[in-house]
Amino acid sequence: MGLTHFINKNIAYLSLFIIAGAGSSASGAEEIELNLFEAQAHYTYEVSKQLTWPNEDSLTQFNLAVIGNSSELIDAFKKRNQINIRGKFISIVEFNMEDFIAGQYSIVFVPYNKRSFNNKLYRDSENVLIVAEGRVKKSVQMVNLLVDNDRIKLKFNRENLIDKGFAVSANLLDFAGTRQDLSQELKEREVKLTQLLQDVSNKQEELEKVNSELKNNSQKLSAAQLQLQENNQKLTEYRNELNNLRKEIEYSKAEVAKNNQDIQRQEQLLIKSRQELQQKAKSVSQLQIDIEQNERILDEQENKLSMQRNMIETRDETIDEQRSWLKANAFIIMLFIVMTIFLLKINSLRRSANRELKSANNKLFELATTDGLTGLFNRRHFLEQAQKELLRNKRNNFTSVMLMMDIDHFKNVNDTYGHLMGDTVIKTVGDILLESMRKYDIVGRLGGEEYAMMLMDCDIKVAQDIAKRLCERIEQTEFSTNEYTIKNVTVSIGLSEVTESDVAIEYSMIRSDKALYQAKQAGRNQVHIS
Ligand code: GH3
Ligand code: MG
Ligand code: MG
Repeated sequence: MGLTHFINKNIAYLSLFIIAGAGSSASGAEEIELNLFEAQAHYTYEVSKQLTWPNEDSLTQFNLAVIGNSSELIDAFKKRNQINIRGKFISIVEFNMEDFIAGQYSIVFVPYNKRSFNNKLYRDSENVLIVAEGRVKKSVQMVNLLVDNDRIKLKFNRENLIDKGFAVSANLLDFAGTRQDLSQELKEREVKLTQLLQDVSNKQEELEKVNSELKNNSQKLSAAQLQLQENNQKLTEYRNELNNLRKEIEYSKAEVAKNNQDIQRQEQLLIKSRQELQQKAKSVSQLQIDIEQNERILDEQENKLSMQRNMIETRDETIDEQRSWLKANAFIIMLFIVMTIFLLKINSLRRSANRELKSANNKLFELATTDGLTGLFNRRHFLEQAQKELLRNKRNNFTSVMLMMDIDHFKNVNDTYGHLMGDTVIKTVGDILLESMRKYDIVGRLGGEEYAMMLMDCDIKVAQDIAKRLCERIEQTEFSTNEYTIKNVTVSIGLSEVTESDVAIEYSMIRSDKALYQAKQAGRNQVHIS
């Protein structure tokens, strides 16, 4: 392919010697069998390969529209539509001009007679490559194919292409331009490079500065790292604490939940309490009114009280005097009480001593009047009592009988069975006498185994019978100690009447004793009367 490159800043001119129809190429140019339409189709495709559409990733194929109805031109495009752009085929779409929607096409070829369409299309379309035949305004220029003396010049506006989002391959630049233009370009690039080098050296200086700063910063960084390690340790400690705190918080949350329940309950109680409080507030207001009334009354009473207080102060002085007088009195009363208690105590001791004395006297009297073994009157007391009875008999004209009794052969009892048996016999005979006597009779033990009984208001014959029964009863009685039991102990009894002529009781006792002696003499165990 014979190509001549012209570069005019951003516009590239491509010159191609074309032999229209089956013509031959000019000298130095590669001959190619293309007619004008085929050449236009060919360059449209070749240029398209060097561009990248802004929406290319979303395209499945490239739709190409040819404006106008030139069947030769459309055939020329269709003849070469096996060409693909980066694996995506080109589809020639025929269309009705009225239905034309720019967004449906990726490439639109605008023939020379439809150039006016180019302006509108450029302004309204996005993602559409406009390839126009003939010159168009630079402001709406993308790719132009200029036909000049059987040559086609390729012309494109890189800035507009970039503005519309197209990426322009470097090959396209190489594809268009001359050596001089390139050297011019190189010069410009050299100037730019020198500037770039200058920029680089400036940047290096800046870089060195930055490096020194970096060193400082790295020192700071190492210090900061140490600090960081310490902080990390602290952080670990804090984390542990945090974990503990979290547990506590969870525990607290549970407690808070409980507390919330309690709070709800308490809130309910609070509402109730508020209601009660409101009622109470009413009562309180009533009470306040009462209190105010009471305060007025109190004021009045306070006045009265202050008057009374004055009176009391005067009375207090009197009371002080009375108090000292009372103290003296109280001392005297206390003394009196102590003395009374002391005397009462002495009196109580005296009464207790009297009681003991009386009891001792009673005992002494008993000892003085009673025989210890038998409990009968002793000789002296019997005589005293008998003497008293004698005098009474005389006053009342009664007849009494004096009975005297002695146990027979008592020595033998003692000698044979011991004194314990003797004492038992003396005691038992005394008991029998006590049982036999009547209410007003008196009986006593005169000594040894001798007894006396005074039978009051009693006939001598009755007395004789009593005496005989006594003899019989004693003879029948068994006397027992731990060792022995004896029977047939006998007694002798002497009787005599107590007469008015008896001056003393001893007179009758002498007579009775005489009769007793006779009973002994007569053989014992019998009763004799004198
Ligand atoms: P009888 O009277 O029949 O002529 O003979 P008798 O053996 O009883 O003689 P008598 O009256 O002389 O003896 C009395 C004895 O009684 C003498 C004395 O030892 C004894 N006797 C006196 N008093 C007690 C006493 O209290 N207890 C005892 N066991 N014996 C006494
Ligand atoms: Mg005797
Ligand atoms: Mg005797």
